[in-house]
Amino acid sequence: MKKHKSFKNDILLLVIFLAIGLLIPLGYRIFHHTTGDAVTITIDGELWRTLPLSSDTTIDIPGIGGTNTLRIKNGQASITEADCPDKLCVHQSSIRHNGESLVCLPHKVIVKVTADASDDDLDGIAK
Ligand SMILES: [Zn+2]
Repeated sequence: MKKHKSFKNDILLLVIFLAIGLLIPLGYRIFHHTTGDAVTITIDGELWRTLPLSSDTTIDIPGIGGTNTLRIKNGQASITEADCPDKLCVHQSSIRHNGESLVCLPHKVIVKVTADASDDDLDGIAK
């Protein structure tokens, strides 16, 4: 009787582990915490450029009425300089997860992290 019960507990543990193993990647997906592959830069609603997060670079974005300096380093993107009045974009923390974005409202600049479309499987999370 005792043995039977512990066997049942083992199964329960196994089920819990399996559920966690399935839920964690799912949760990551839902909350867009997958690391992105590239950033798309949009100016006034128009796609200006797409840059890979894998190569470090610094680029000036010609926004509406001013310039934003975007830096990509160690797979993260951040706006390091801008001549907009509020400087909110500069104070935003760096982004690297799929779906995260940097926004400069005065310049109508949006920098958004995207994941490769071919990355749409569980391997993308295991990386
Ligand atoms: Zn700004």
